[in-house]
Amino acid sequence: MSPTTRRGFLALTSGAAVALSAATDFWGADQLPGQPPSGTTGGQNKDFSNVMAIAAHPGDAFFAMGAPVAMAAHFGGQGSLLSLSLGERGSATIPVEQYGSMQREAGQKAAALIGAKALFLQYPDGEIPVNEEAKFAVCDLIRQHKPSTIVTHWKGSWHKDHRACHDIVEDAIFYAGLPSIDRKDPAHGVRRLFFADNWEDAKDFVADTYLDITAVCDRWLEACGAFPMWRGENGFRYNDYYGSLAIGRGCLSNFKRAVALMSPEEERVRHIQLP
Ligand SMILES: [Zn+2]
Repeated sequence: MSPTTRRGFLALTSGAAVALSAATDFWGADQLPGQPPSGTTGGQNKDFSNVMAIAAHPGDAFFAMGAPVAMAAHFGGQGSLLSLSLGERGSATIPVEQYGSMQREAGQKAAALIGAKALFLQYPDGEIPVNEEAKFAVCDLIRQHKPSTIVTHWKGSWHKDHRACHDIVEDAIFYAGLPSIDRKDPAHGVRRLFFADNWEDAKDFVADTYLDITAVCDRWLEACGAFPMWRGENGFRYNDYYGSLAIGRGCLSNFKRAVALMSPEEERVRHIQLP
């Protein structure tokens, strides 16, 4: 199968019709191998005009979900990265309060580097609660920042905070879109939800969408370097993992660098009309 055909296959397997139409913007499916993209490079894709990452911990937001946010900002849209905790218990050697401050500062610095906003809620690391208060707190931030697309954790995680975040976000999106729920800001409907390719959330993760991140990859990896854990300081070599994952996912999608995303089950639907 030629790369072009293969890529066409990947575009089709990405499921929903919206992903196919997205292919003419920075998804790049109109681009021939080894040649610059034709047509609308840099043009805005409605789904990716405003991307919000919502993660349990700042590292997840930037390492596993940061590239799509960086793409939105790079192409003239808006991006934000919301962490439900500071990940303050992530170091075996640095006191919790100090590490939380370091994580917050790293998030702010990294967000500035990719032209996005860092947002934080302060649930305790390891104890993120799945309750109405948390769901409405996230709902309010969705209504305030109005993302067209949200990227969050897949539920197949060994980490309880990641599973909690997944559940909170699903209900927060529902609340954010309901006009009859009266909050400070008016209702906002999120167009697309994706789950991120995260080494801690790998159980039953099946990629169905590939996003070309070539334009922002170097800058995004540089931004991740603001975090004190990026180079394996806490035991896992995030830099090697996510840097090489972008190459591997790029090979599979015939982009130079890519991230893989997973759609909710109900969105993995093909819309085909012949002729
Ligand atoms: Zn995490």
